[in-house]
Amino acid sequence: MSRDVLVRATDETMDHFLYRDGQLHAEDVPIARIAAEVGTPFYCYSTATLTRHFKLFDAALAGMDHLVCFAMKSLSNVAVLKLLGDLGAGMDVVSGGEYARARAAGIPGDRIVFSGVGKTREEMRHALEHGIRQFNVESEPEIDLLNRVATELGTVAPIAIRVNPDVDAATHEKIATGRKQDKFGIPIDRAREVYAHAASCEGLRVVGIDVHIGSQLTALAPFEAAYGKIAELTRTLRDDGHEISRLDLGGGLGIPYSRGNDIPPQPAEYGELIRRTVGDLGCEIEIEPGRLISGNAGILVASVLYLKKGYDRDFVILDAAMNDLIRPAMYGAHHDLVPIEEPAPGTEAEPHDIVGPVCESGDTFAKARPVPPLRPDDLVAFRSAGAYAAVMSSEYNSRPLVPEVLVSGDQFAVIRRRPTFDEMIARDIVPEWL
Ligand SMILES: *Cc1c(COP(=O)(O)O)cnc(C)c1O
Repeated sequence: MSRDVLVRATDETMDHFLYRDGQLHAEDVPIARIAAEVGTPFYCYSTATLTRHFKLFDAALAGMDHLVCFAMKSLSNVAVLKLLGDLGAGMDVVSGGEYARARAAGIPGDRIVFSGVGKTREEMRHALEHGIRQFNVESEPEIDLLNRVATELGTVAPIAIRVNPDVDAATHEKIATGRKQDKFGIPIDRAREVYAHAASCEGLRVVGIDVHIGSQLTALAPFEAAYGKIAELTRTLRDDGHEISRLDLGGGLGIPYSRGNDIPPQPAEYGELIRRTVGDLGCEIEIEPGRLISGNAGILVASVLYLKKGYDRDFVILDAAMNDLIRPAMYGAHHDLVPIEEPAPGTEAEPHDIVGPVCESGDTFAKARPVPPLRPDDLVAFRSAGAYAAVMSSEYNSRPLVPEVLVSGDQFAVIRRRPTFDEMIARDIVPEWL
C-alpha cells in the first residue's frame, strides 16, 4: 500500500494538520512537542481550520441577511466558542448547560438559538431571563409550557417552530432527524394548525420556521427537497397572516472522513442552494452547521502501548479508548489514523485491529486497518476528531477525561486540562451512614 493512502494530501480545504520535515504539525506546532508537555491521549484543535470553515459558511450566505449559529453540541469548549463568537458566530444550543457555556464564552443572548425536543421549564426560564434570540420549539406541549413560563415572567418568547418535512437525509440511522418516524419537529402537514395555536398564545411571538433533517449529509438533494417544502410553507403561513421573518435551515452538511471517498458538497454550493430555494422570500437566514466547522479542525493524539499477536490478526493497543472517542463504537464511524512521524516513502502497511484498553470488544477503533510498522511509545493521531468527539467522551473505566489543546500559528494552549484521579474521585460522596 502506498503511503499516500495513509497520509492525507495537502488539501487546504480540509485542515491544518500536515507533515513538515517528517513530523505531523498542527499549524506550526509539532504534535510531538505538545505530547511531551501534555501527555497522551489529548485532543488538539486548529484555530486556522475552525476560522476557515466558519468563514466559508459566512461567505456562502453573503448578500443575504444571515446568522451562522455554530451547533456547539459538536464541540463545546469555551475557548472554541469564544474564537467563533469573536468571528461573529451565533450559537445553536440544545441544553441549559450549553446555554451557560455560550454565555461564558461571551456570546450575547441575541445570537443564541435554543433547539431540542426536551427543553425543561428551568432551561426556558433561564434563557428568557438572560437573553435569547429564539426558541426552536418542537411540539404542542412545549409551545404551551413555553407560553406559560414566558407569561409568568411577564415577557414574550420569540419562537420558530421546527417542522418535520418527511425527507430522508440518506445518512446514518442514528443521525437522520427529518423523516416522519423521527422524534423531531411537528409533521409539516399539521404546521398551519400548530402555527395558528402558537399565534394565539400571549407569551409567544412567532418569528419563523425551523428545520434540521440530519447530520453528515453527503448530497444536496435532501436539503433541496426540505428547503423547497419550507419555501412553500412560508408562503402558506404568510397567507394565514403569520409574520415569517426568519428561516432556520439547520445544519447537517457532511465532511470527508477518509481520503478517496466522495467529497461532500462545499459550503458555497450549499449557499447557492439556499439562495435558489428560499432566497427570494426576504427572510433572515439562520444556519446551524456543527460538524463541517469543527470536524476536521481536531485530531485525537494517542500513544502506542503494545503490539499484540492475536489468534488470526495483529492488534495495536493504544492508550486512547472508546470512552475518549466513541464514534467508531457508536456509529461504526471511520477515522483515518496517521503516525506522527511520517513513514518513509515505500513503507509497507500491514492490516491491524486498532484497539484501546477498555474492557469491551467494542473498544475497537478500526478493524484490519493498514498501518505502517509501529512500536510502543510511537505517537499516532485519529483525524477528523473535532466534532462529536471530546464532547461525547466519558470516564468509563475511570479513565479521566482527556485534555483539549488549541493551536494558533506557533502557539498552543491547554484549553481543558486532564483532571487528576483525586479530582475525579472527589465528585463521589460516601454517605455518613455507610
Ligand atoms: C446536531 C444539530 C445540528 C448540527 O448538525 P451538524 O451535522 O453537526 O452540522 C444543527 N441543528 C440541530 C437542531 C441539531 O440537532
